[in-house]
Amino acid sequence: MVVQGSGQGLREPSLQTVRERALDALGQWHAQAPWGRKDPATLAIDDVLAVGPTQVVLESVFERRGVRYALRRAPDKPAVPAVGPDPWSVTLEHPSSPVLRRELTLQLPGTLHMECSVCGTSGEMHCLRCGGSGYSSEGGGTESCFHCRARGLVVCDTCDGSGGVLGEPTVWSLLDRHREVRTVEDEALPMDVFFALHGARTQRSDATDGGGSSDGSVVIHEQTGERVHALQRSQGYRDDALHGAEARLHQVVGKLAAAPGVPSTDRIHRQRLEVRQVPVYQVCLRNGESVFIYGDPLQLSPPETLLTPLGKLARTFGWSR
Ligand SMILES: [Zn+2]
Ligand SMILES: [Zn+2]
Repeated sequence: MVVQGSGQGLREPSLQTVRERALDALGQWHAQAPWGRKDPATLAIDDVLAVGPTQVVLESVFERRGVRYALRRAPDKPAVPAVGPDPWSVTLEHPSSPVLRRELTLQLPGTLHMECSVCGTSGEMHCLRCGGSGYSSEGGGTESCFHCRARGLVVCDTCDGSGGVLGEPTVWSLLDRHREVRTVEDEALPMDVFFALHGARTQRSDATDGGGSSDGSVVIHEQTGERVHALQRSQGYRDDALHGAEARLHQVVGKLAAAPGVPSTDRIHRQRLEVRQVPVYQVCLRNGESVFIYGDPLQLSPPETLLTPLGKLARTFGWSR
C-alpha cells in the first residue's frame, strides 16, 4: 500500500517530507562508507514513496462491572431465589482522568435471600481434610477420616447447612485498556524486505505487548471517539479512515472495529484508532530501477544497487556490507 496524496481524514506525511526523510537516511548510509556507496545527491530520482506494512491499532478503554456479596447464613434456603441487581443500573462515575484498574464500589441497601452457591443448596460440602474420600492416609496406614466421620462431606461453612445465604450486594466497577493490532501488508514490498521487517516486528511485538510505539513507526492517522456505551451498541468504532481512498485499510479498520477484543458484557468508554506505517521508502530512479530503504541499522534492497564499483568489490570479497 502506498500512503500518499490526499486521503480524506488521513494526516499523511507530505511528499516533500517523505522525500526528505528518505534522502536523509540515504545520506547517513552514504556517510558510513563514502568510498563504497553512491552519494544520494548524484542520483537521478524520479519519485520517493513511503511504502511498508501498515499497522492499525485500536485501543479501547472499557468499563467492567460486577456484584459481590457480603454473605452470612440464612435460616433456610429461599423458595424463590432473589435476583441480584444489574450492576449497570446504578450510578458509578469514574473521575474524568481515571486511574486504570482502580476499583470503584457502591454498597447497595438491602439484603438478598439467595441460594448458597458453595454447596448448591445441599448444605454440605466436600471435606477438605480427606479430599472427600472419607479416608485419610496419615501415618502410612489408611484410616477413616475423623473430620467428616468417613462421610467425605461436612456441613457447608458458608450457609452452615441451611442451603441459603443472606447477601449484602456491592457493585464494583473498574476501567481497563485493551489494544488490538492488525497489519496491512504491502504487496509492493520485495520478499527480502518483507521477511526482514516481519521478523523484526514479531520480536518487537513480543517485547512490547502487541506493537507498542518503540518500533520507529510513523503515525499517519489518529482519531479518538468518546461515545460512552453507544460505541459498543453500534458495534464499535466508526472512523474517518473508513472513508479514505484505501480499500484494504478500510477492511482492516472495519474488522478491527467489529472485534475490538473487549467482551460484550463490558462497556467501551473511549476508543482510539491509530494507523501507523513502518517506514520503508521506495526510491524510484530515473533509469526505472527502484531501491527500498528500511530498518535500523539501515538496509537497502536490492543490496548492491547504490554501491560504487569499489563498494561492490568490497562486498563481493566480504570486506564490507
Ligand atoms: Zn473427611
Ligand atoms: Zn452452603
